[in-house]
Amino acid sequence: MLADSYGRVATDLRVSLTDRCNLRCTYCMPPEGLEWLPREEVLTAGEIVRLLRIGVTLLGIREVRFTGGEPLLRPDLAEIVARTAELDPRPEISITTNGIGLARRAAALREAGLDRINVSLDTLRPEVFRTLARRDRLPDVLSGLSAAESAGLAPVKVNTVLMRDINDFEAPDLLRYCLERGYELRFIEQMPLDAQHGWSREGMVTADEIFGLLSPWFTLTPDSERARGAAPAETFLVDGGPARVGVIASVTRPFCGACDRVRLTADGQVRNCLFAREESDLRSSLRGGASDEEIARRWQAAVASKLPGHGINDPSFLQPDRPMSAIGG
Ligand code: SAM
Ligand code: SF4
Repeated sequence: MLADSYGRVATDLRVSLTDRCNLRCTYCMPPEGLEWLPREEVLTAGEIVRLLRIGVTLLGIREVRFTGGEPLLRPDLAEIVARTAELDPRPEISITTNGIGLARRAAALREAGLDRINVSLDTLRPEVFRTLARRDRLPDVLSGLSAAESAGLAPVKVNTVLMRDINDFEAPDLLRYCLERGYELRFIEQMPLDAQHGWSREGMVTADEIFGLLSPWFTLTPDSERARGAAPAETFLVDGGPARVGVIASVTRPFCGACDRVRLTADGQVRNCLFAREESDLRSSLRGGASDEEIARRWQAAVASKLPGHGINDPSFLQPDRPMSAIGG
């Protein structure tokens, strides 16, 4: 098991497949991008699958989510998914993507064994997309979304980060768009994980504000069937249901006490929290000839030292050195 000293057990592994990205979302990266990891430091498909095998057979990992950076930038993504689907016990396999290129690849990913998908969509307006993501790719994202649905990846989940005075006014339109297509929308509070350190508490659109933006248009009632548990999203029935909307209030309503996640960066470092300030180097163990058991012990030690919470609301909070795109959101 991957247990920590506060009694939490990590069963959900987030794997960053690359730190590179083809967008430059303002809440994530500077316009010029970042200094990418050298290719030789990024884990190969074989190395990733070996770590996943250790995770599911020795450490109780039950869910694997591939993320990044942009995971669709890995040409071997379908191969990684297929090899993950062959593991025994087979974990549930999902990806979080910006959707660019998904239109071409959704069917192959489904075929390879992908179970679920989250597509990030912050706006329905091309000009806002250009401001927010600094690229002109909204049509690619929208066609990727519908391809995911056609490929049988329903219910497609949509992630939205609202930015004050940029796309916050679109909250009702985004929800309407998702309701019409059967997508499950989740709003995510902006977290201090951008490479430029531009986050501010005042700038963040809070969960309470999101309710305020939606409530003139929709009746939201807490979804008693879906208790929050380890799931970060609080879900609400829209207009009596069955449609739902989620809000991930990582900052204003932290859920660290129920966290069941652990993260692996593209260069093979275990992080026990998005906001961890320390990492454990599994890549050196892998490449240095360590046995599966040795790697498992190192991984367990990394999780054992997990802190009780992310501490964003403490005056002494320090943002981690790696930004979200390099950790794997
Ligand atoms: N590139 C993919 C994408 O955008 O979906 C996967 C990686 S991205 C880092 C994963 C998720 O993190 C996206 O839904 C994105 O909107 C979200 N995200 C990025 N930076 C964030 C921040 N500072 N606060 C909250 N969410 C953030
Ligand atoms: Fe790329 Fe995702 Fe970050 Fe946007 S949020 S810059 S799509 S990694």
